[in-house]
Amino acid sequence: MLDGLWDLGLLDPTPELEHKRNIIVAPVPKRGHTSDLIGGRLIARLEDLPDLPAKFGFVVDVDGPRQLANASGDIRIETSASGGIIVRADGSKLGQPVTQDDAVNAAVALARWFHKTVSPDIRRMAPHLAATPLPHCFARETVTPDTALLTPGPLTNGCAYGVPFGSMTASQLRNLMQGTGASRMRIAPNRIFILDGTPVTDTPAFVTTPDDPRMHIHACPGAPACAASTVPTRQIASTLAPHLKGRSLHVSGCAKGCAHRGGADVVAVGRDGAFDLVRNGHPWDDPQRRGIAPTDLAPRVGLMNWSD
Ligand code: SF4
Repeated sequence: MLDGLWDLGLLDPTPELEHKRNIIVAPVPKRGHTSDLIGGRLIARLEDLPDLPAKFGFVVDVDGPRQLANASGDIRIETSASGGIIVRADGSKLGQPVTQDDAVNAAVALARWFHKTVSPDIRRMAPHLAATPLPHCFARETVTPDTALLTPGPLTNGCAYGVPFGSMTASQLRNLMQGTGASRMRIAPNRIFILDGTPVTDTPAFVTTPDDPRMHIHACPGAPACAASTVPTRQIASTLAPHLKGRSLHVSGCAKGCAHRGGADVVAVGRDGAFDLVRNGHPWDDPQRRGIAPTDLAPRVGLMNWSD
C-alpha cells in the first residue's frame, strides 16, 4: 500500500516531513483557489517549521466565508472581517493582516514564536495563549464572522458525500466513483468528501442530504472490532437513528469514548453486554439509566424523558 501511495505522490520523503504536514485546506475552492495556493506554499515550506507537537496543525481557509470554522487547528490563515487575509493564533480573536504572498512567512513566524515560548507540558496554541500574551504584531485584525460550513449534498461541480461513522469499504467507494465518473476526490472535515462528476444521491452507503440523522451520530467500532467492548455499536446506532428527533447520539463501546470527545444529547455506553444511558453528556459521565438490553434501547431513547 505504501508503494502505491508513493507512486501517487501522496507520501512525504521522510517521516519528519510527514509529521509536520498537518494542514487542512478549505474543501470547496472559491475565489481563485487561494486556499489551495497558500496550502501548497505551506507544504513547500515544511522544512522551515520548527519541531511542533504531534497534534499541532494549520488551517488554510481564505476562500470567502470560513468553511473550517469548526475544524481543529493552531495556526489559522483565514478571511478577515474586512475581506482580506489574516494569520491567526487559535485562541485569539485577532490575527495579523497579510497578503497571499506573505501569508506563509507569517504562519512560519508564528510557529517559531510558539516553539520558542511554549513550555513542554503545553501541546496546543489556545492553552499556550491563556498563559502567554501574543505579541502585538500577531493580533491586529479580527477574523470574519461569516461561515459556510460544508454539508452533504450536490455542489456546483460535483457532490459532497457524508460517510456514516467515518467508515466505508473499498467496494462502496469504488461503486460510487464509477457511478459518478469522478476523476478527483477532496477530503473534508466532519466525515465528508467531495467527488467531481455526476452527483449520485440514491446511495445507501453515503449521506447526500444535510439533515440525515446519521451525520449527527458518533459510534466507535465496538465489538468485535475492539476488545474493550462487550456490545456492537454501529448497527445499534443505525437502529436508533429514526428515534432521535433531531438530537445528537453517541454510541460508545465503553466509557473511554474514542469516537467523539465532545458531548451529545443521548449517550449509550456499553457495559457487560448491555448499555448505560447518559443524557446531555459524555460516555465517562454518571449515567441516568444502567443495564439496558440492546433490544430495549430504541424505545428508551424514543421516550427521551427518562422520568420513570
Ligand atoms: S470507546 Fe472503548 S470500545 Fe470504543 S473503540 Fe474506544 S476503547 Fe474500544
